[in-house]
Amino acid sequence: MSKDTKKVVDLLNQARAGELSAILQYMVQHYELANDDYGKLAKVLKATAIAEMKHAETLGERILFLGGTPTTKPDGEAKKNQKIADKIATDIALEEQAIVLYNEAAVACAEARDHVSKDIFEKLLSDEDAHLDMFINIKDHIDQLGDQYLATLTGD
Ligand code: FE
Ligand code: FE
Repeated sequence: MSKDTKKVVDLLNQARAGELSAILQYMVQHYELANDDYGKLAKVLKATAIAEMKHAETLGERILFLGGTPTTKPDGEAKKNQKIADKIATDIALEEQAIVLYNEAAVACAEARDHVSKDIFEKLLSDEDAHLDMFINIKDHIDQLGDQYLATLTGD
């Protein structure tokens, strides 16, 4: 494997480790919210976990294609039993981290003359942008409306 390819594979694996953490975090939140009868918000977390699973798959397939080994290790531990506002703050931080990494990785892939991997990072970026925007909207509603808003997230 060339030095450039190794660098790209390392970035893809770094991204994959972050995706694995996000999957586990969003699944924990999905289950906790479902248990607490916040069904509407639970659904949002479930859908986002599945979106991150697809990201982890895309990254894994690209790593394999380049001759690397897709990592199976998340880069962090999922937080449990957080209050809803704290859950959303955790999610905002995860998405922001991904956005910083993927922007840098896209540039590094272009420098390594790997525009397929660059395109993958850019496509993931637009998904993470949408996730971040969604979580920020939820945070804003919580900040402005508090329990009144949370009550709208209960039930199925
Ligand atoms: Fe993702
Ligand atoms: Fe995301």
